[in-house]
Amino acid sequence: MKLILLGAPGAGKGTVAKLLTEMDGSVQISTGDILRGAVQAGTELGKQAQAYMNAGDLVPDELIMGIMGKRLQEPDCEKGFLLDGFPRTIPQAEALKVMLDELGIKLDMAVNIDVPRDVILDRLTTRRTCSNSDCQAIYNVKSNPPKVEGVCDKCGSPVIQREDETEEAISHRLETYNEKTAPLIGFYENEGLCVTVKATSSEDVINAIKARLAA
Ligand code: ADP
Ligand code: ZN
Repeated sequence: MKLILLGAPGAGKGTVAKLLTEMDGSVQISTGDILRGAVQAGTELGKQAQAYMNAGDLVPDELIMGIMGKRLQEPDCEKGFLLDGFPRTIPQAEALKVMLDELGIKLDMAVNIDVPRDVILDRLTTRRTCSNSDCQAIYNVKSNPPKVEGVCDKCGSPVIQREDETEEAISHRLETYNEKTAPLIGFYENEGLCVTVKATSSEDVINAIKARLAA
């Protein structure tokens, strides 16, 4: 399957994407994971992206399109991909459209995961992430803590609170979402690709996607 996952920070894009990869071998492509990996590795990309990320601002479109132009041409994308956190602005969506046309790739749908704001705020402040850039497993101190406090179940690395998950950066990320990313819902509605799923459980979101793919 070839899907775009839309939704506010904390809507569950990453969790849903991970579950979908287990279904048919499609790869999860998370620009946030790629950027955090680059910051940790200290690459040029990481150095350019870090300040924007820590403030909860978007990284410039040019940098993102540079990453994605290469990533979508890697062979593992042939089976399908789940775009998690990309596109995030109208210019990114337009550039993606051109890129996919050139590659002859057709999207199945853009899933808009619609979760109430109070649930989002609660999730983001209690979210914890594995610090290993190759893992980046997601936990929640209340609903899904690691078996041993502060230690990743999957890889044993420390589980941390992301630097952009302070209260200030979170509220800024949500403003940025409303201003820059929410307009993509209309963009993909015009393309006839948008499917909105109102659900707070990842299982419900997955089932709605499966039903749509089968229809
Ligand atoms: P979340 O969805 O929880 O906000 P992500 O891991 O998707 O988190 O993104 C973390 C940060 O990485 C964003 O706040 C932003 O700075 C940067 N980022 C990720 N994807 C993009 C993108 N497509 N365009 C611009 N910036 C991005
Ligand atoms: Zn881990």
